[in-house]
Amino acid sequence: QKPTLAELDASKLIVTKTTTVRAVPVPNSKEVWSFKECTDHMVRVTYTDSHGWHAPEIVPYGPLMIMPTASCLHYATQCFEGMKVYRGYDGKLRLFRPDLNAKRLAMSSTRVALPTFDPEEFVKILHAFLAVDGPRWLPESRPGTFLYVRPAIIGNGEQLGVIAPAETLLFIIATPWPDISGDAVPPGAASKPYGLKLLASKGDTRAWPGGFGYAKVGANYGPTFVSHMEGRRRGYDQILWLLNTEKEFEVTEAGASNFFVVWKTKEGKTELVTAPLGSKIILDGITRRSVLELASKRLIEGSKYLEESAGIVDVVERAFTMLEIEEAYREGRLMEAFVSGTAYFITPVSAINFKDEDLEISMGSKGQGGTYATLIKKWLIDIKYGNEQHEWGVVV
Ligand code: PMP
Repeated sequence: QKPTLAELDASKLIVTKTTTVRAVPVPNSKEVWSFKECTDHMVRVTYTDSHGWHAPEIVPYGPLMIMPTASCLHYATQCFEGMKVYRGYDGKLRLFRPDLNAKRLAMSSTRVALPTFDPEEFVKILHAFLAVDGPRWLPESRPGTFLYVRPAIIGNGEQLGVIAPAETLLFIIATPWPDISGDAVPPGAASKPYGLKLLASKGDTRAWPGGFGYAKVGANYGPTFVSHMEGRRRGYDQILWLLNTEKEFEVTEAGASNFFVVWKTKEGKTELVTAPLGSKIILDGITRRSVLELASKRLIEGSKYLEESAGIVDVVERAFTMLEIEEAYREGRLMEAFVSGTAYFITPVSAINFKDEDLEISMGSKGQGGTYATLIKKWLIDIKYGNEQHEWGVVV
């Protein structure tokens, strides 16, 4: 008979505080743009096949000890999450829908044969961690700032066999990341026009039917860096990942973000369109979901949220292609495009290179993004930074 394995249990948390705190960098400074700084502490939880989840720990930030035979170093048994903790304009620290990150992490973990856990326990541990490092790293005097929080799970232990690892490590770190959404420019860098330029992928594919594009596993990222570097070299910010299986030039995601277009249909209706989750090639982005949910509730007839320039839209999740975007562009029906994600937030797209032609997309009257991207971004900022009290903004 197999022994019952211990569950992930936040009530067993052991906290060891550092005696030497690190300097907190100024937001958007050079240190922040180095992407190297981390806060004073980190979370560490071990899982072993014989015991289950061990007691979670908060310990001073520092290197991990792993053996050269650790599974993650050879077989990509790794998954992660990306989330942020925000210092609100009302002085409170908030997470944005952390339950969804916790569930997605548990799902990704099982996709690479690593253990699952109760997402609620994970969120409790996260809260405890941010209660330690949040207040000093996001001082009340700096409302509107955030830390990027990176939970990860890796196959660990000593075992080179090509099998699921017998030991796993879950860790969480937090880092004072810059705002890469385009609103901030690195110190000393030339200011860049608003809007992302996307290069539609040619032969290269990010995810495919029957694969693991829907999971947030490291194996979905490393192999895309070559295309990204090639895009950068040619003057583009991100790759727009196309897929050529069921349809030709099917639009999936942009870089590490979900992708939306707003267009007029041939019948004259305004649609907000993004790729569907059904074929399991798209990451179920939390920002994506939030955009869809807010737009479906707020951009409807009689809504108090409609503005002079923003009317009713039909929210559509369906497979669509670059040929449709191109046609809408040629017929003057393409209104906006934007990406959504925790890191890029809502960033408008100013051009898509398809078949060696740049399709230029409107950036709105102020050149900072179209009406819908701007409006939806504002709604999300209000929720994340506590201008609007909303159940998605979870106070730490
Ligand atoms: N797609 C991919 C491939 C991503 O890595 C991310 C970032 N997690 C997203 C979309 C956006 O997801 P979210 O809104 O949850 O950050």
